Amino acid sequence: MSITKLYLAPGKENSLKRFHPWVFSGAIRKIDGEVAEGDVVEVYSHKREFLGLGHFAPGSIAVRVFSFDQVEPNYSFWKSMVQQAYDYRKRLGLLDSADTDVYRLLYAEGDGVPGLIVDVYKDVAVVQTHSVGMYLVREQIAEALQEVYGGALKAVYDKSAESLPQKAPVDAVNGYLYGESSAGTEVLENGNRFFVDWESGQKTGFFIDQRENRTLLGQYVKDKKVLNTFCYTGGFSVYALNAGAAEVHSVDSSKKAIELTDKNASLSQAPEKHEAFAIDTFEFLKGKEDRYDVIILDPPAFAKSQNVRHNALMGYKRLNTEAMKKIKPGGILFTFSCSQVVDKYLFNNTVMAAAIEAGRNIKIMHHLSQPADHPISIFHPEGEYLKGLVLFVE
Ligand code: SAH
Repeated sequence: MSITKLYLAPGKENSLKRFHPWVFSGAIRKIDGEVAEGDVVEVYSHKREFLGLGHFAPGSIAVRVFSFDQVEPNYSFWKSMVQQAYDYRKRLGLLDSADTDVYRLLYAEGDGVPGLIVDVYKDVAVVQTHSVGMYLVREQIAEALQEVYGGALKAVYDKSAESLPQKAPVDAVNGYLYGESSAGTEVLENGNRFFVDWESGQKTGFFIDQRENRTLLGQYVKDKKVLNTFCYTGGFSVYALNAGAAEVHSVDSSKKAIELTDKNASLSQAPEKHEAFAIDTFEFLKGKEDRYDVIILDPPAFAKSQNVRHNALMGYKRLNTEAMKKIKPGGILFTFSCSQVVDKYLFNNTVMAAAIEAGRNIKIMHHLSQPADHPISIFHPEGEYLKGLVLFVE
């Protein structure tokens, strides 16, 4: 099979030489032949130096590079990528941990596989492809997963139907690539029990990226009244209940999320201290002055693209202002943004603007990010999407 070659305009090779994996459409001078979405292409400089091998897509990011070496993109290549990611998680202590069996195995650019995410829930791997190129190799990925795990995986589930680009020329249907395990499973995260349903849940079923931040919350909740807004499966709520909170209230506008949170709270050590409310966070906060010692704000990505970033910032500011006005004096606020287009400096400034508006004096206790199983390539800072601040509100 011959691979289509693509040549960049002069000067456009520098970022690839620094291992940044994206080729923007404007950087391309010439394509040797026909390319379709999902095709593997070779990228060359205008001087015909090989730069990388990647998947082609129409749109602003035209190529996502998965190898800076001239390799054969065959099964053994994909297996080596899975193996590398597996070895890294082993080094993190995630593969043979007695109290955690949920982790991210492959995180897109952070693991050299742009467009591919794999999360593991005990003995089930959930694959989510975000590009047609990765979608087309999903079966090879599933096979590589089985081989690398040596029989320890019961099933591999493909959940690409909702993650692929909207106009992708493939008819993706979610389903098992290997084995079957349809009723969800109970997992352990730092000894906290959760029920995860990858088939019907949001994303791959659970927000694994908050693991370390939930652990940190545990340090500040003993005998405190805690409010967890945008709770989804109740991750922060369960940690708070198990860490001895006096009372935990969970809020999510989705009824289904509230059912999941209730179910997970019932697996905790103190379900009687928990109450969940299916209501909009802004509505819930009305009239709740001086009610809570600790508040968690973990909203969905308010901005999915640059063009709506301003509105998103206004949303973060309004939300943080409300929580700062309501929290008890001496309270602790955990506030997050998972919008990729809002970087940590912008987020800090937005939270500062909220503090000014709320008129409260505030100390930054911790700067938070995503855990090491969501690695950020130093050459691809865009991979750092989760930002958080822990604030002491005087
Ligand atoms: N904190 C969660 C993840 C949050 S995902 C965790 O640790 O797992 C974002 C959640 O916000 C979704 O469950 C969504 O239903 C909820 N949501 C979105 N808009 C909301 C609003 N205005 N009020 C309350 N919940 C909202």
